[in-house]
Amino acid sequence: MRQNPRERERQEKLLKQYEKRKVDIKQRFEEGQNRNFNKNAPSKQGQNRPTGNARQSQNQNQNGKQTKGNPSDPQQSASARRKVELAVNTRRGEMVHHQRMLSSDVNAQATQHIVGLPVNRSRYNGYGGVQATSNQVKNAKRDPSAVRIIPLGGLGEFGIGKNMTAIEYGDEIVIIDMGTLFANDDYPGVNYMIPDIKYLEDNKQKVKAFCFTHAHLDHIGAARHILPKFGHLTPVYGTEFTVGMIKKQMSELDDEPDLNYQVVDPFKHEKFSISEHLSVEFVHTLHSIPGSTNIIVRTPNGAILISGDWRFESNPCGTPADYDRLIEVANTEGFVLMLNEATNIDSPGTHPHSEYDVGDNLGHVMDHYANGRIIVSCFSSQLGRIELVLNEAAKRNRKVAFAGFSMINNVEVALRARAIKIPKNTIMKMEDLVKLPDDKVVVVCTGSQGEMNAVLNRMVTGAHKYIKVKSTDTIIFSSNPIPGNEPRVVSTVDGLLREGAQVIQNGKSHIHNIGPLHLSGHAYYEDHVKFVTDMHPKNYMPYHGEFYMLQHSAEMVENVVGLHKDNIIVVDDGDIVELTTDKKVRRAGRIPVGSRLYDDADKSVHEAVVKDRVHISREGIFIIVLTLSKSNGKLIKTPDIVSRAFIYLDNSEELVGKIRHYLRNKTDHSTNMDLKQLKEEIKDDVTHILFDATGHTPIVIPVINKV
Ligand SMILES: [Zn+2]
Ligand SMILES: [Zn+2]
Repeated sequence: MRQNPRERERQEKLLKQYEKRKVDIKQRFEEGQNRNFNKNAPSKQGQNRPTGNARQSQNQNQNGKQTKGNPSDPQQSASARRKVELAVNTRRGEMVHHQRMLSSDVNAQATQHIVGLPVNRSRYNGYGGVQATSNQVKNAKRDPSAVRIIPLGGLGEFGIGKNMTAIEYGDEIVIIDMGTLFANDDYPGVNYMIPDIKYLEDNKQKVKAFCFTHAHLDHIGAARHILPKFGHLTPVYGTEFTVGMIKKQMSELDDEPDLNYQVVDPFKHEKFSISEHLSVEFVHTLHSIPGSTNIIVRTPNGAILISGDWRFESNPCGTPADYDRLIEVANTEGFVLMLNEATNIDSPGTHPHSEYDVGDNLGHVMDHYANGRIIVSCFSSQLGRIELVLNEAAKRNRKVAFAGFSMINNVEVALRARAIKIPKNTIMKMEDLVKLPDDKVVVVCTGSQGEMNAVLNRMVTGAHKYIKVKSTDTIIFSSNPIPGNEPRVVSTVDGLLREGAQVIQNGKSHIHNIGPLHLSGHAYYEDHVKFVTDMHPKNYMPYHGEFYMLQHSAEMVENVVGLHKDNIIVVDDGDIVELTTDKKVRRAGRIPVGSRLYDDADKSVHEAVVKDRVHISREGIFIIVLTLSKSNGKLIKTPDIVSRAFIYLDNSEELVGKIRHYLRNKTDHSTNMDLKQLKEEIKDDVTHILFDATGHTPIVIPVINKV
């Protein structure tokens, strides 16, 4: 085809421009090489040295500092000489600045679990709204006649979890709960955290008993790590289901500890004397797991009510709450202090429906989508909900199988503790269930939070052994996403919808003309107003919540219930609250608190490891292996270079060549250098070269072998 001469002209021009540019790049690189490595080289290695004055002056123009880099200049400092060896355009200061910013970012991210001296100038801070100085905190005098309430976890942290409270009088301590907190994406490779119990380890002989309000992981999850440290004598109190769940946890340990379990029947209103001055009583309450209790701790300074997690239900599926017992104690002995969970304080009103409504609605879904399989996803600890699913399925002649390790475990424990009742011949094994016609099938599974490895996601991807989601399936999310999990839940829902399945989520069930499919386990605002009013405690301390929840709960009690602000205290983990003989609360110093980190194999993860992981995830890692001759210290073979999570080496020949060149020169001229210093300098220089080329400072590890 003939080409228009104008077009040909244009293309030729472009080609010429391109040729020019290409030469430029190459030339600049060569210049850089010359500039860097040859300034320090002795003249016999001068084959790469600039040959003409023109080249020399050009180099100087490009980098004014070059003039100082003359190796023959006796005035030149060692550091200046090192600078010239690198083919870099960035100053060392820029790299150091980048490293400093990075390390402060990494630190901020990987140390969120450490609770230092928190800022608390709230009007309920126990110091009249004035921030205590670190000296005041350090020198706080201990009142020997006071009862001390010390939150070891669960207050004012990121995310709600790892609840743990110590109540101390003289040489006696009783512990309420010990939970886990699931780590977020800021903590790569960390699965969960537990409270740091250094204070208890230092005061081991004082710990007289452990009490558990209920079996959620944010209350019992840390038991496997903490209880074995206190031996087989210290009693462990809880209801049958709660103790069953703790035992199950312990049975998973390689070396199952022999512990002094004490199963409590809360309806007996027993007072367990756990030490000379302290006793505990468990009171049955309602929450989203069987066997939930409030705990009353009686002390020489009065009775303390610890709410545990709770909700009001006028028409509960199980036994109604033993509210009368609480009212009785409130009106006879009175509560000198009430610790009340603050989780749902921001939800207005009261619970709008009951678990029965949820059960009915689950039934409606089974009716609406009568021809397909029903897959219900909920928390594995929602045993009441699971009971409802079983009942609704049995009514419709459907069979139910459980999928997910924790789901099967929890159902087993609940059955053994008689915490749930199940209709006969309804439960089947998954492998048998899938052989039934679709309209006979209900699967209850984990994964409602969009967890990548949970059953629901595996059913979407086809990775599940027995079930692949298909277009006739209906998937019910009988749960709400925990804050932070929303994007994952969305991605799971999208995956299900792409398979053509029906997806019915609580909170969005109106789209399918179905009522609510979930009920929160925590009381709403008006419920709290009623509870605190009925208990009319002398003093009030919100717990189990982020700082804003604690503050909102305190405001509710001051403004609506009408307690004076001096009788309300909002504190963080580690703050010591003293309850004095004249029935006042005040802050009195701190104990060290924080978190210990664990991976998904329940093995401890050191903070330094997390920091390295965060650093590597942002900047990568770069390893250099040098083999030097023992006799003359020179390189014996080409240095090995390994890059991970940083640059892809196959695409980075130029940079790698540059580094190899540097290493050869460096080793040639450092034959007598101390190995440690040589490593340090190589690490520093290579980091600089990499920063210059990429804007990143990976972890550089030089390995030097002498043979
Ligand atoms: Zn709970
Ligand atoms: Zn809880």
